[in-house]
Amino acid sequence: MPKAAAFIDRDGTLTAEVGYVNHPKRLRLLPRSAEAIRQLNAAGLAAVVTTNQTGVARGYFSEEVLHAVNDELVSQLKREGAHLDGIYVCPHHPTEGEPPFRARCDCRKPRPGLMLRAAAELGLDLAASTVVGDKPSDVLAARRVGARGVLVLTGYGLGEWEYRRDQFPVEPDHVAGDLLDAVEWILARRVE
Ligand SMILES: [Mg+2]
Ligand SMILES: [Zn+2]
Repeated sequence: MPKAAAFIDRDGTLTAEVGYVNHPKRLRLLPRSAEAIRQLNAAGLAAVVTTNQTGVARGYFSEEVLHAVNDELVSQLKREGAHLDGIYVCPHHPTEGEPPFRARCDCRKPRPGLMLRAAAELGLDLAASTVVGDKPSDVLAARRVGARGVLVLTGYGLGEWEYRRDQFPVEPDHVAGDLLDAVEWILARRVE
């Protein structure tokens, strides 16, 4: 049976927003992120990271560095007993850098490609899933795959919500203080 998932943005949602993460040592989990992932693991929801990383297209860091940073994410979570079911990355930018990463891809959020690929590979039920992120593009991506969208107030979220919400293309289904609050909302409204 297809599984419900939480599609979790990386920078500003799961980890601190520090600009381009061009070295594994720059990666910092937010304080309650490991607990949030542990709760998803315990509840049987897939925990899937979906992240735009235009630093690759812009030439700020290589795919090798991107992989090293994501390996660091996996090991920091593992040390805290938390497990990710997948990490899906858009390395593209529509106008910056050089091909193949300068591309009008289908995976740069708010486009749905990352979620669609994860759903096909991991057997996920998009209609039962939720996208969590700190930008309106995360919420719009949710809408495009028929999932719910939760805005967190970490990262860019607080500023987006306080100062720019009148420009949001779609309303979040929920606004949460951080990822753990988002996960608690997801688990509380889950239909068995
Ligand atoms: Mg983000
Ligand atoms: Zn892409």
